[in-house]
Amino acid sequence: MSVTILKEKCRGCKLCLKACPFDAIYMDNGKAVINSEKCTNCGACESSCKFGAILVEREQKEEVKDLSAYKGVWVYAEQRQGKLMFTSLELLGEGRKLADKLGVELSAVLLGHEVDDICQELIHYGADKVIYANHKLLQNYTTDGYTKVIADLINEKKSEIVIIGATNIGRDLAPRVAARLNTGLTADCTKLDIDEEQRILLQTRPAFGGNLMATIVTPNHRPQMSTVRPGVMKKMEKDESRTGVVEKVDVNLHDEDLRVKVEEIVKSAKQTVNLVEAQYIVSGGRGLGGPEGFKLMQELADALGGVVGSSRAAVDAGWISHDHQVGQTGKTVRPRVYIACGISGAIQHLAGMQNSDCIIAINKNPDAPIFSVADYGIVGDLYKVVPMLIEEVKKLKE
Ligand code: FAD
Repeated sequence: MSVTILKEKCRGCKLCLKACPFDAIYMDNGKAVINSEKCTNCGACESSCKFGAILVEREQKEEVKDLSAYKGVWVYAEQRQGKLMFTSLELLGEGRKLADKLGVELSAVLLGHEVDDICQELIHYGADKVIYANHKLLQNYTTDGYTKVIADLINEKKSEIVIIGATNIGRDLAPRVAARLNTGLTADCTKLDIDEEQRILLQTRPAFGGNLMATIVTPNHRPQMSTVRPGVMKKMEKDESRTGVVEKVDVNLHDEDLRVKVEEIVKSAKQTVNLVEAQYIVSGGRGLGGPEGFKLMQELADALGGVVGSSRAAVDAGWISHDHQVGQTGKTVRPRVYIACGISGAIQHLAGMQNSDCIIAINKNPDAPIFSVADYGIVGDLYKVVPMLIEEVKKLKE
């Protein structure tokens, strides 16, 4: 896009000077002139001119490319220090369904250094093929290195769908790869599907603060890229009889490609809670009335062999740290049993736990929305109910 002032038409009225949000127009000999250093080509001046003296040339819409060369579903297999992230297995389970619907191959894309052991695991969890980039500069994640290698691979092999876990690394990597490939990215999807008629990916995610679900498509660009939050998709059962191909690929990566060098990885001493893989979660909300209530939550969680979760209200009140938060802006969980204590069941909380196998809600308000998703509802004071539950669980264990 470019902006030009037609001198012969300009009457020197200065209206365009006022309209320009970037102060990019000045007067010279009674005529408006564009300061090209400040002009952002936004076109805001065009409608201010009553004499048709401003010409904004807009680029033609990009032509729809031939997308038929793009085939196959790819899942980014995230590993850290040789350990495969659980979320990659979940994504393989989902990728398998998408690939089967499209009748194409499911590939896991593995980057690292000497992490060969992971390849078979990826096949056992659903991949037909592992595209394995093994290089010493890929030992630790770097934005530059991983972006380059994945973008090169996609340019060369042309996958139609790429799914990446919305982990800290995935959230860094996916947008950069998408930008480099000039394609779209739908972040934090909670559901993926295929429009079988058009053979395109339907990417669903919460929008407007979780009040509605938006389904986003990428019809004119490839690959179609999504990130998916950990805990949302279900992994397949491990099948050690599955076989697949491991394709070792050449890596074109040099020291000068990496602007950041990882000297050392120092793990935080803070104890983090693994909500995503937990089978039993006991969550507390504002109904606990204060931080002390989480001791009771911990007691029940310990009795069950589980972990403690929380609503955002409890985190915002400073009663527990954010890594315990379940929900739209916390973790998405899928335990066997989720016990919600003193949590009302706001839509943003439900977004993170409603796929749990069994939900037990304890709330003194019989109309609390949490009961609409609960398999078992207990109307009562949590400080009376939870100690009874702890006692019963302990008895069962004896
Ligand atoms: P409340 O809604 O205040 O509910 C407290 C409940 O405790 C009540 O139902 C009450 O009846 C019950 N209660 C009180 N005393 C007792 C007792 N003694 N025994 C039993 N029951 C009792 N929230 C999340 O949880 N996770 C998120 O990720 C999240 N993300 C958000 C993102 C956005 C963009 C927005 C706008 C909001 C988000 N929220 C999130 C906040 C959410 O809307 C709610 O405000 C929050 O979930 C409420 O927490 P709560 O249920 O603990 O508190």
